[in-house]
Amino acid sequence: MRSPQRSHHDVVVIGSRCAGAATAMLLARAGHDVAVVDRSRFPSDMLSTHGIARGGVVQLARWGLLEDVLASGAPAVRQVMFRRGDNQTTLRVKERAGVDLLVAPRRHVLDALLVDAAQAAGAQVRTGVTATGLRRDGANRVVGLDARTADGQPIELTARYVVGADGLRSRTAGWVGARVLDSFSADTGTFYMYVADAAWPAYEFHVARDAYAGVFPTHGGAACVWLCRPAAALGSLRAAGSDRAAALLAELDTVSPTLAARVRSGRITSVVRGAAGLPNYVRQPVGPGWALVGDAGYHRDPITGHGITDAFRDAELLATAIDGSLRDPADEHTAMAAYADRREAALRETFDLTRALASFPPPDTFVELQIQLSEALEREADLLASFRTPAATAVRAA
Ligand SMILES: Cc1cc2nc3c(=O)[nH]c(=O)nc-3n(C[C@H](O)[C@H](O)[C@H](O)COP(=O)(O)OP(=O)(O)OC[C@H]3O[C@@H](n4cnc5c(N)ncnc54)[C@H](O)[C@@H]3O)c2cc1C
Repeated sequence: MRSPQRSHHDVVVIGSRCAGAATAMLLARAGHDVAVVDRSRFPSDMLSTHGIARGGVVQLARWGLLEDVLASGAPAVRQVMFRRGDNQTTLRVKERAGVDLLVAPRRHVLDALLVDAAQAAGAQVRTGVTATGLRRDGANRVVGLDARTADGQPIELTARYVVGADGLRSRTAGWVGARVLDSFSADTGTFYMYVADAAWPAYEFHVARDAYAGVFPTHGGAACVWLCRPAAALGSLRAAGSDRAAALLAELDTVSPTLAARVRSGRITSVVRGAAGLPNYVRQPVGPGWALVGDAGYHRDPITGHGITDAFRDAELLATAIDGSLRDPADEHTAMAAYADRREAALRETFDLTRALASFPPPDTFVELQIQLSEALEREADLLASFRTPAATAVRAA
């Protein structure tokens, strides 16, 4: 038995992608001692398409990271195209909330950039380290965690706060017994692949009965081409094994022949990945000594393509709350309750629209809901641009 490596921090974060790395970066920029563990190593990919909504782009810009994302080769997208049947509309991305572009960086690029930013701010990021359980004091407050390196070295990290940013299958949420405050089931599936050697100037959204497809332009002139449908309609795609690319193309033929034709004119460079039947839940986000952020605390079907922005927004709301609590422990209850309240207010409209969209109503209603969603996302971008968190920009300004 090797004796554990022990260290103490203000905050320990489990998970170091959109939610965890951003939370750690903001807290470290605010001057706190932060450690992060992630069982992954970076750069590494994950199961996700990666179109970032305007609010997420606002966060990257405010945090001083948008330039790095663009410098990585993720193209600035300045057009959004909508198509239903033969009707096609292309709109320019207007300047709003301080940004005039959208961007869809591959996750192995984005997540590694966020990890680098957290480290640059002073957070200690330990990759290849899996959290295995929480530590509690006599009053049952969470005071740290046990973890293990890939080669079996035990680690004990103690902290004033433990943040679970460990994603959709969060073990932290289970360990703390976070209550589910709201949930719904939506049996939809999202599948995607990468296509190079074709022109992809715009975010694209194609609507048909029981189907929603799209395009996110990304690095190297390639695009992430995706399809959402009720899971029951995806049977042949899911059963297609090594022929999934052909099966996805066959689906696109019926949803949007013009998109299918452009995919055929290009070169498919990846296997088809995806998931169906993902859960939709809002979990209690705080308790004594712990908090949840990102998918760990709130997950909605990918049909609204909003998880990265949710993670960035809630990372800043949580970092603000923990910063306040660390500076004035007497204020802990108020500060952490404010995180719960502000998160609930911010997520409600999109969560309810996700519920409605994921039921795949008739196309007229689906399009109407999409219009409501885009209006909600524009208001959210304004809200994020109005945040005045000193730590959001502290390091870049220094
Ligand atoms: C098919 C699909 C398509 C999507 N498309 C989009 C889209 O277009 N736009 C968008 O904005 N969002 C999209 N999303 C959602 C988005 O991917 C997530 O909301 C986002 O990744 C959440 O970030 P997170 O940091 O909370 O969790 P994650 O990105 O899941 O990161 C969690 C991290 O925790 C680590 N971890 C887990 N357990 C432990 C442990 N015990 N110890 C140590 N580390 C641990 C993992 O290794 C991982 O690195 C999509 C999701 C799916 C599934």
